[in-house]
Amino acid sequence: MENCIFCKIANGEIPAAKLYEDEEMVVFRDLHPQAKVHVLAVPRQHFKLFADMNAEQAEIVKNMLVKIPQIAPSLGLADGYRLIVNQGENAGQTVFHLHMHLLGGEKLPE
Ligand code: 5GP
Ligand code: ZN
Repeated sequence: MENCIFCKIANGEIPAAKLYEDEEMVVFRDLHPQAKVHVLAVPRQHFKLFADMNAEQAEIVKNMLVKIPQIAPSLGLADGYRLIVNQGENAGQTVFHLHMHLLGGEKLPE
């Protein structure tokens, strides 16, 4: 998708502190961390919402949810993390390419 910052990060057009990538997703540090560790897990395919997913994209999201706990220790999240997926404007979604926030590396506020 043209002019999508996360598409550009995923395809290497703009730089990011990437910690993990494979054929389906990339994981990189959030530019404005809200916790000691704040990374974003982003599917390479562009879609905005869970509501928009086709079957292939749903499979990719399922695979992400399997892989994230596998790589969490290598991200500094061995002791737990919060997974946040903002869906739409009222939730505060500002980048309209689906992404999962992983927050941790410390005890988070309730
Ligand atoms: P949202 O509010 O859409 O759920 O989250 C978007 C997140 O993307 C924000 O936490 C913001 O800091 C992060 N972000 C926005 N632009 C960039 C960027 O160019 N690089 C990186 N690494 N993170 C970004
Ligand atoms: Zn995109």
